[in-house]
Order: sequence, then structure tokens, then C-alpha cells
Amino acid sequence: MIDLRSDTVTKPTEAMRKAAYEADVGDDVYGEDPSINQLEETAAEVLGKEAALFVTSGTQGNQIAILTHCRPGNEIILEAESHIFYYESGASSAFAGVQTRTLNGTRGAMNPSDVEYAIRGEDQHFPETGLICLENTHNRAGGAVIPTDNMKEIHKIAKANNVPVHIDGARLFNAAAALNLPASEFAKHCDTVQVCLSKGLGAPVGSILAGNRDFITAARKWRKRLGGGLRQAGILAAPGLIALTQMRERLAEDHENAQYLAQQLGQIKGIEIVNQVDTNIIVADVKKLKTNSSEFVEKLKAEGVLSGTFGPSYVRFVTHYDVNRNQLEQAITAIQKIADQVI
Ligand SMILES: *Cc1c(COP(=O)(O)O)cnc(C)c1O
Repeated sequence: MIDLRSDTVTKPTEAMRKAAYEADVGDDVYGEDPSINQLEETAAEVLGKEAALFVTSGTQGNQIAILTHCRPGNEIILEAESHIFYYESGASSAFAGVQTRTLNGTRGAMNPSDVEYAIRGEDQHFPETGLICLENTHNRAGGAVIPTDNMKEIHKIAKANNVPVHIDGARLFNAAAALNLPASEFAKHCDTVQVCLSKGLGAPVGSILAGNRDFITAARKWRKRLGGGLRQAGILAAPGLIALTQMRERLAEDHENAQYLAQQLGQIKGIEIVNQVDTNIIVADVKKLKTNSSEFVEKLKAEGVLSGTFGPSYVRFVTHYDVNRNQLEQAITAIQKIADQVI
């Protein structure tokens, strides 16, 4: 199977498996796991923040951020197609008790003046704005890179209004690779940031939540409350450290493969690429074919290629290190075959 459903499907590399096996471990709830400590220190440095916390998933990292920044009855401002709103099972209302104020963005980027307008003034009728969430790269916008200028402007407005900013940076390193900037150049435009180790970076488990020291102390408690206090977690941290230190550089390769795939698919009759491919995500529209996305995905699966539906006629393909150029060629041939069948 050639798996282009997501970059979450990447399997840990040989070096990661070896590192997990050899990891120095201790009880992380006591703060005594050397591998976790090393990962958290390295992550804080890479992101340009005072401190960092290893969390079990991107969703957990985002939700801990909301829980730590907000109180029940607060409102959070976020883009209408953001992961936190769209894909986290309503966790922000279920756990943090906040209400969401969604703004339609352009390629995932909220308009700073819309954000400014959405921040609540003082009035007994109003919820307080507890947090602004950005997402970079933006998943549902097809892996779009949110420009640093946009982030900077929103952060400035947020600061002027005393509202913190959180970045859902599940794929922040893809944004960094795309613009050839250090991740800290993005993270400096926020108070807190979550990055996934288990997507394109290939670690088996885990995310990082970073921010200032006081924030991370409070976040650690929320992690414990949620049952996310792990013991000999160095087994997970060691591959995570490899992800963070050795796997970022090669993301550009995934982006080149995505460009190639988009260019090839764009030439197939009846298929239209709908996103500007900034990073490793391609969204193809199959509505000009006599099929819908679920059927297309099923047929493609029978040909040994996995993809995902992304709307009634949209199919998503994600490139990553577990699919090489040769496999990509095979995938293109299979997609061409299906398209020819249903034209
Ligand atoms: C994948 C992803 C997450 C978190 O995913 P988990 O599966 O919980 O690790 C958060 N935000 C975005 C934008 C994502 O793509």
C-alpha cells in the first residue's frame, strides 16, 4: 500500500527505534526522566520559548493550552476551518467550557482587522476573549503557510488587548521549511505553541507545548488532570528528539514531492488541484469525473493507493518520508487509471 492519507502514518525510523531501546529513563511525573528533560529543553530552544512540555498528542497540547489560558465562559477566536474547531471533537467546550468565535480566513489566515473587531470589550453581556488561536500550516486550507506578517499583526493586536495567542503548529516545521526560516521566527509571534513530533517528523507519539515558564508549570498540572502525566516516557522522548533534531531538514523533500504530485495530477483530465501547494498537502477536486470523493478513494484503494476524502468531491493527498518518488510514480499511474475509468 502507498499511503498518502496523512503524514501521521509515517513509521519510526531505524534510528528512532534504536534510540527508544537505548533511552535513559526515569519517572517523568517526578521530573526524573532524563530523555524527556532533554527533549523539552531542546524543543524550548528550537521554538525560542522559555520552557516546553511533552504531551501525548497535538489535540492534547492544544486543549491544555486552552485550559491553561482560559476560564469557563471565555470565548476563543479561531479560524472557521481550524483543527481546534473542526477536528477536536468539541473538546474546547467539553473540557475548557469556552465558546468559539470563528472567523473565515483567506487560505487559513484570519484578517487582523476581523480579529480586532471580534475581541470583546468590557460589558456584562459579553464573554471575555480568553485566547486567539492561529494554525500554521493550515490543514484544511491545504497546508497553507500563514505569512509571518499576518501572525505579527494579529499578535500586536492581541497584546494591545491583553489577549494571549496560541499557535496550533502541528506542522509548524513544514511552514518553517517552506519559507526557509527558523521555527522560532513563527513562534515569536505567539505566547504558546504546539508542535507535532508524530507527523512529518516521523516520531511514533507525541507533541510539544511551549511557552514561558509559568505557563508551562500551569500546563503541567492540566496535563496531569487529563491523565497525561507519564512515567518512563523517555522511551517516547528519544525518538521525539531525533524527530526534532534530524528530521526537520528533510521536510523540503516532501514539499518537492508534493509539487511534483500536484503538477502530475493537474494534467489528468477531470482532476483539478484546488489548493496552492505550499507544503506537503494536495487537495484534488474530482467533481468533473463521474464519481464522488468517497468512491474515488475506494477505487484508488483497490489499486493499492490510500488517500482521504476532504469534502464531497475533494480528495486529499499528503506526502511524507515513507513514500518515495518511485512510489509516487506508481500512485500517479493508479490515479490516472481510475480517472480514465470514471471520466
Ligand atoms: C494533526 C493536527 C493536530 C493534532 O493531531 P493529533 O492527532 O491529536 O496529534 C492539531 N492541529 C493540526 C492542524 C493538525 O493537523
